[in-house]
Amino acid sequence: MADLPTHIIAVDVLRRFVGDIFTAAGTARDEGERIAHHLVSANLTGHDSHGVIRVPRYVQNLADGDVLAGQVISVVTEGPTHAVLDGNLGFGQTIGPLAVDYGVAKARSEGMAVVALRNAGHIGRIGDWGERAAKSGLISLHFVNVAGGELVAPFGGVDRRFSTNPVCICIPMEPGKPPLLLDFATSVVAEGKALVASNGGKPLPDGALIGPDGKLSSDPATLYGPLTPGGPRAAGNGPGAIRAFGDHKGSGLAFMCEILAGVLTGGATSGPVPTEGRRKITNGMLSIYLDPDHFGSQNFVAEARAYANYVKASRVAEDVAEVLVPGEPEARTRADRMKNGVPLQLDTWRSIVATARGLGLAEPN
Ligand code: NAD
Repeated sequence: MADLPTHIIAVDVLRRFVGDIFTAAGTARDEGERIAHHLVSANLTGHDSHGVIRVPRYVQNLADGDVLAGQVISVVTEGPTHAVLDGNLGFGQTIGPLAVDYGVAKARSEGMAVVALRNAGHIGRIGDWGERAAKSGLISLHFVNVAGGELVAPFGGVDRRFSTNPVCICIPMEPGKPPLLLDFATSVVAEGKALVASNGGKPLPDGALIGPDGKLSSDPATLYGPLTPGGPRAAGNGPGAIRAFGDHKGSGLAFMCEILAGVLTGGATSGPVPTEGRRKITNGMLSIYLDPDHFGSQNFVAEARAYANYVKASRVAEDVAEVLVPGEPEARTRADRMKNGVPLQLDTWRSIVATARGLGLAEPN
């Protein structure tokens, strides 16, 4: 497939524009800038599905009262090595850093900490939170669900039962170097990738979706219903579901995310979604923070690096240029886009500009 035309925009221009949009939409300037920072960070790492494509939706969520500006975390209960935190429907880009910093402080003192976060607005790319803990030298594991966001059929089923439930494991490396970072949705694709495909972007892989008749599909209409250019993309409108990745294994992981991030946090599982009325869509996240210094592994980073190098030294399979370790694709894309700008599909760019105009802002030059 030929590359679709894109609008390439410098990182700082994009950040400023998105920050201005949220400020005009009603957040304080620092919160607007924080949201912009994290959305652009997703684009920088190549995860466009969780980047600025979300701006129109977030602005609508704010207008609808589904996410609230100016919120902070509140502590529901805690001990020396654990805490249950409520995100109070605040923007995930505000609540996420507060929750991570809470867990990091406990783990620095006690060696480990478990933080159960509930009722956060969309916390976006989970890798951001792993990277934040890694900057303090901590290992972290994150299990996430989306209350009210049923989209994914379980292995062997056709009905939506899970959300796209990302899992993230992040390992700090040498100061200033990118961490080892495993961060993926437990569905074949994140919903945002269907959104991107529905706007004419990268097509979905074969069999990423499943229809109510059990037939596999890669047509985003399976998820959104009939697609009109620039029309709404509400996942509730389609008859089908995204499939869990990795057959019974990925489906099992998605299931456990619901239990850990939905039930244990005291948030909610992704379903059932009430047929009457609307449930606000929130993220739950169970995070585990570990301080390697407390585990007696003084050479942890050096030994992890040596092992990563050993893995990378594997002979390559046919048509593969190089073995990568988790986090390398993101680090490389970040280096490239910081230098050359962020490519956005034209539809995505136009929808952001339309949102900005609706708030009285002009397109940046
Ligand atoms: P993906 O399929 O692109 O997988 C990304 C992971 O695979 C990364 O760890 C990456 O380093 C690794 N990887 C990719 N290519 C590799 C290679 N050749 N060799 C070795 N490792 C490689 O990710 P995804 O499932 O599309 O998820 C995208 C993003 O969506 C994630 O950041 C996730 O956190 C986010 N997400 C968020 C939510 C939410 O509710 N907030 C829900 C779903 C997904």
